[in-house]
Amino acid sequence: MTFPREDYRALATYAPDRSPVDVDLSDNTNLWGTHPEALERIRSATATDLARYPELYADTLRVAVARRFDVDPACVTTGAGSDDVLDSAFRAAAGTGEAVSFPGPTFSMVRPLVLMNGLEPREVPWSEALDDPARLLEGDPSLVYVCRPDNPSGALAPRAWVERLLELRGARGPLVVLDEAYADFAGETLASAAPAVPRLLVVRTTSKAYGLAGLRCGYGVASTEVALEVEKSRGPYKVSRLAAEAGALALRDRDGWMARTVAACAANRGRLWEALDSRGLAPLESRANFILFGAPTGAAARDALALREHGVAVRPFTGVPGVGEGLRVTVGPWPLMERFLEALDRLLRASGRGAGPSDPAARHGDAERPGAGVQSSGALPPESPA
Ligand code: PMP
Repeated sequence: MTFPREDYRALATYAPDRSPVDVDLSDNTNLWGTHPEALERIRSATATDLARYPELYADTLRVAVARRFDVDPACVTTGAGSDDVLDSAFRAAAGTGEAVSFPGPTFSMVRPLVLMNGLEPREVPWSEALDDPARLLEGDPSLVYVCRPDNPSGALAPRAWVERLLELRGARGPLVVLDEAYADFAGETLASAAPAVPRLLVVRTTSKAYGLAGLRCGYGVASTEVALEVEKSRGPYKVSRLAAEAGALALRDRDGWMARTVAACAANRGRLWEALDSRGLAPLESRANFILFGAPTGAAARDALALREHGVAVRPFTGVPGVGEGLRVTVGPWPLMERFLEALDRLLRASGRGAGPSDPAARHGDAERPGAGVQSSGALPPESPA
């Protein structure tokens, strides 16, 4: 008997820099606050909410998701954040040693989730996957993960490309998991279409647009068959009563709080993009609540540290199509964006990099025009507004 499992020795715990900072623009949460009706529900907590077990499979939340996307509640699965839904889906779809493929670079938790489940990660460069989605099926993976819009680039893979990916092997193909954590900011979702597609699971969260990252409330929409298998893998009691009820109220969005913050975010995203572009920093077009912009080779991690010293946290990345190295900044209310731009200008001056003309080749790189030329037969029903 060995402890830990042999393949766990190389795993580490997830450890992004979470040390306190004045302005945290590093984790793509909602900087306008939290959904007021959800907060109200948490404030009204009673002893019963905590002393008793919650619903086994979070039916309150499941019904709210079903209403929002006009699907049957049996097509919905839920979890403690969308990380948990992804984890359950990976476990349900792939057995030990089987492969999970994904276009990358992408959401940084994907690889650890694959490894934690004893699976084999197969990363295909985004540009290659977009040119030919069949690249993601090489080696017969049991699951294909696609982030849409992608983190960290913010690019939205075209719907025609997703359709092509689903058609390639049809009902005999791997489970395709579409991570829509940021889809509320893109104004597009395939959640309503998912129940009619045999091998598609659309995973979403209340952590981003609803300002509820601390609540740990995520969900997925799929055919009843897929949803059932993911529910089995998830197990009972995963979502607390407070999280399910607060999440359900947020999803209903009766007073439009979510819709208003998403609109404010879109306006500031455009403004921030212009500000970065005018400094020659090659920002990528984003459909999410963050923007990735370029940093000189070898400088991203150092630049992130320097910005942190000026009181602003952003996340550094390497190997991103269209920029190479870059920094990802969360879009928030404009006074926070001003704090960021001040810190950025101090960094640019200190490192002798003034604002210069932007590089159009970088701005119009692969991440900005994904899937150009991919043809689809239109197998999915019309895309619904998120
Ligand atoms: N997917 C993506 C693409 C993300 O960026 C994140 C959060 N960083 C998640 C899923 C997980 O979010 P949560 O578990 O809070 O729902």
